[in-house]
Amino acid sequence: MHDYDLLVVGSANADLVIGVERRPGAGETVLGSDLVVHPGGKGANQAVAAARLGARTALLARVGDDTHGRLLLDSQRRAGVDTVGVLVGGAPTGVALITVDPSGDNSIVVSPGANALLAPGDVRAAASLFQASRVVSVQLEIPLETVVEVVRSLAEGSRFVLNASPPRPLPPEVLAVCDPLIVNEHEARVILGDACVGAGPADWARILLAKGPRSVVVTLGAEGALVVSDEGLSKVPGVPVTAVDTTGAGDAFTAALAYRLGAGAPLAGAAAYAARVGAAAVTRRGAQESSPSGAEVDGL
Ligand code: ADP
Repeated sequence: MHDYDLLVVGSANADLVIGVERRPGAGETVLGSDLVVHPGGKGANQAVAAARLGARTALLARVGDDTHGRLLLDSQRRAGVDTVGVLVGGAPTGVALITVDPSGDNSIVVSPGANALLAPGDVRAAASLFQASRVVSVQLEIPLETVVEVVRSLAEGSRFVLNASPPRPLPPEVLAVCDPLIVNEHEARVILGDACVGAGPADWARILLAKGPRSVVVTLGAEGALVVSDEGLSKVPGVPVTAVDTTGAGDAFTAALAYRLGAGAPLAGAAAYAARVGAAAVTRRGAQESSPSGAEVDGL
């Protein structure tokens, strides 16, 4: 018996957003809208998305002892995430400074802050969370050595899901346990480099699988996703919706996939559910605020 359907190990950031008529160039100052602060970071977003769907979820992350850290802890608790694994202090909470122009184009500066201090020792100290969790989900906004320690800490029989975002080269030890490795089109291109020239998403999925993961999911925005394992490749169709804001779609998709896999769903079935969750998330603004409840997804 597991206490948690999902343990998310990852980043927690405060997103500081200012609307501008025009994003400033070098040496330039522009006036913008009032500042809006949202809880964000891929780890925090995934944990909230999973808990909203009904998953018993824990988050292992690090925030600063500051107002942004408290904002993040509050949003996790409101969603029903167990924050026993959220460490506090050592550096300011991670921040993303975001300017958005009227066309929706943005410029973002990320200060990792406390996320950069989430260390392998923190993972070892959280051994009881790993023992209690059916599925462990990780993204790449925390140090790579911490991701490696997560892989070494997995309990017998638990499943590891990795969203390679932001993309970077991964050691064979990490790739070998991904079930699945999840990438969007941009991340697939970065990881594959020259290998994706002249090839399409189905080829990318197969080439990524050949690098060692047990399974691979390539998300394709409105087009849905591709799923590949040694049982073959299948296409998960997109769910037609009117997209308003695609921020956080990948986080909601990954959280939903990890949750359904933990419930025993086959990969293609879990991805079909996740595609409904991702579609619901793009119909509303925001990253965490936009992620749907289980009942909303069932109604889609
Ligand atoms: P990311 O957010 O990481 O860039 P994607 O854009 O591929 O990833 O979105 C993740 C998933 O969310 C997609 O696989 C799809 O299921 C869903 N999704 C994203 N955009 C849309 C859209 N415009 N319409 C319907 N579903 C979408």
